[in-house]
Amino acid sequence: MSRDEPGADDAERLVEMGHCCRCEAWAETLAVALVERGSGPGYIVRACIPHAREMATYPSAPAWLRTDLAALDAARAKQLGNAS
Ligand SMILES: [Zn+2]
Repeated sequence: MSRDEPGADDAERLVEMGHCCRCEAWAETLAVALVERGSGPGYIVRACIPHAREMATYPSAPAWLRTDLAALDAARAKQLGNAS
């Protein structure tokens, strides 16, 4: 499990363990698409971080995917800097 320190970056909440929609690996995943359905709740498509990065380069990718990746990268870079 991940450490959850007070003040940990909100970006970490973007990441969740799940199955990648592309390679089906069980890994840290990011939401890469929101599927809305006319009836009933929509659902979230998740992909592992390497695939999320790849999908973020697609013209059809939602703008928030790039934003989420940038936020995650910034948070991870800060964590590395603070690693004890
Ligand atoms: Zn994947």
